Amino acid sequence: MFTKKQIVQWLQAFASEIHENKDYLTELDAAIGDADHGINMDRGFQKVITQLPNIADKDIGSILKTVSMTLISSIGGASGPLYGSLFLRASITAAGKEKLTEIDIQKLLQEGLQGVLQRGKAKPGDKTMIDVLSPATVAFEEAVGSGKNMSEAMQQMVAIAEKAMKDTIPTLAKKGRASYLGDRSIGHQDPGATSCYLMLKSLSDSYSS
Ligand code: ADP
Ligand code: MG
Ligand code: MG
Repeated sequence: MFTKKQIVQWLQAFASEIHENKDYLTELDAAIGDADHGINMDRGFQKVITQLPNIADKDIGSILKTVSMTLISSIGGASGPLYGSLFLRASITAAGKEKLTEIDIQKLLQEGLQGVLQRGKAKPGDKTMIDVLSPATVAFEEAVGSGKNMSEAMQQMVAIAEKAMKDTIPTLAKKGRASYLGDRSIGHQDPGATSCYLMLKSLSDSYSS
């Protein structure tokens, strides 16, 4: 069971991961994009951090909805609406909830994934954040389906997410700015897939901590 406190800790932990990896994410984007992914994500999540004290007492759905609105309004790049859609769809599944079971987290991931798919129209393998989010969601689902507890399912999800992030290196970008490079996008890790891994890793860390 994820408590509301752990969800708030997750958002704080993700914001810290983004802040610590700001230059790294921007360097990844410099290779195949416009060198701003770290800047974009950090701007959005630092804004989220300033709002958390005002919303931490609300239900999990309301907290996630505020995150969505904040990201959409403060991030200029593609990642704003994409992460905004992820958190918006996730917020709907968590509406009115004070804690989240394994099944609730499964739905949250599935809906978050659907939000990004609907917004960005990318397919798995297009070298985007979907390449991490999709297999990680499946891994969590399979773990829960086979009777694993939250902690085990989280660990399985993060292991798959890390591998999936690295697996974006040899692929050809078919969506977003990196797709303008054609074959030159091959050989570089996708920045959005990397921030998505950090999101799932901080989710897992917030549960075990
Ligand atoms: P921008 O490309 O506008 O500068 P960012 O640099 O913040 O935005 O984000 C780039 C990341 O967004 C990419 O690395 C990729 O993972 C993700 N992305 C771009 N387009 C799409 C899309 N259509 N669907 C899913 N993810 C996408
Ligand atoms: Mg960019
Ligand atoms: Mg940009």
